[in-house]
Amino acid sequence: MSKPRVMFVCHTGSISGAELVLLDIVQPWAGQSAFLFEDGPLAPALASKGLKVTVSRWGQGLTQVRRDSSVLKVIPLAGRLCAIVVELISAARRHDVVYANSQKAFVLSAIAVTFARRPLIWHLHDIITSVHFGAMQRRVQVALANFCTSKVVVPSQAAADAFIAEGGKANLVAVVPNGLDVLPEASSPAQIRQELKLPEGPLVGVFSRLAAWKGQHVVLQALAKAPGVSCIIAGDALFGEQAYAAKLRQMVDDLHLGDRVQFLGQRSDVPRLMSAVDAVIHPSIDPEPFGRTLVEAMLAGVPVIATDAGAASDILEAGKAGTLVPPGDADALAEAINKIMSRPPALAAQLDYADARARSHYGVAQMLQTVSGLIDRAATGVPV
Ligand code: UDP
Repeated sequence: MSKPRVMFVCHTGSISGAELVLLDIVQPWAGQSAFLFEDGPLAPALASKGLKVTVSRWGQGLTQVRRDSSVLKVIPLAGRLCAIVVELISAARRHDVVYANSQKAFVLSAIAVTFARRPLIWHLHDIITSVHFGAMQRRVQVALANFCTSKVVVPSQAAADAFIAEGGKANLVAVVPNGLDVLPEASSPAQIRQELKLPEGPLVGVFSRLAAWKGQHVVLQALAKAPGVSCIIAGDALFGEQAYAAKLRQMVDDLHLGDRVQFLGQRSDVPRLMSAVDAVIHPSIDPEPFGRTLVEAMLAGVPVIATDAGAASDILEAGKAGTLVPPGDADALAEAINKIMSRPPALAAQLDYADARARSHYGVAQMLQTVSGLIDRAATGVPV
């Protein structure tokens, strides 16, 4: 049988973790299509993988609607949302399978495929809980998933459990961990430190978009209790979190951390930067569906300190492959930072273990094989 015709659908044109996963997933699907609600760096990135990219005429700026917005806020946009659904119906009819890569993309795709009569796969990169979604949104998403999808792909058991707890059908779920490639040779840490004009001494790093639930503020509070430790913070406020970004800069002033903390903005060389730090911190205060930066740090041979919420415990094997601290606890985080900076003797073995675990559990090839199999089976109508 010839390869199915697939259309990948994204609501955003920005590139955060979910879109980085998609850029890997599309690798075997050159020549197929992507449909984006808005323009942005994701469009040329997908085109460079050989996809034919279409950008909606109606979706620009919709990403600024927060995903926990009330129905009332969405009503004025109803006309534009309907217009996108019409575009999606017509595009879906030219394909065998629709693959939605985000919650917003999924909701509109679900409506479209009921008209276009095409199988739909939802790659759910979120944990569906009240922290991120209103009650109505959760009900609508789960009902649409139960009735309209062939499969719901999630990156961790934590994300699967949350979907099922909200009423999602267990037999729809496929747990497919994010895959990350082995990293290229890094520049020398000294070179990177010089380039960024970083002070001598212990250095930690945070590599996530700026958002309150990602917890960068807890790192700043912890640094105030970890004298002599400097920090680089890579990432930008990608989805309307500018007020939080401003609050972080204010905190740096208030806590007198100006000579120890550097904001780097959105970077495209995270693995390289990681190789220059003494520990990577993953400080999310709410459960994470996955946490790519954890695996990136494991592959870079750098100690990880992560909050014990969502998938982190699984990825770090309950603390065997990194350090877990309670979410939102600046004292515990400061203690963990100070401990790692003292380079305890057990650390070398932990780093070896983490590297082996990342390679054996989180390879791109494994992810591609599983997802491609799901797409093939959805296209032929075989129960997946
Ligand atoms: N990242 C990046 N540039 C930055 C900050 C982060 O490329 O300046 C990458 C990071 O390396 C990781 C991804 O963004 O691959 C974040 O993924 P994660 O699963 O940690 O969080 P998400 O954005 O999906 O919530």
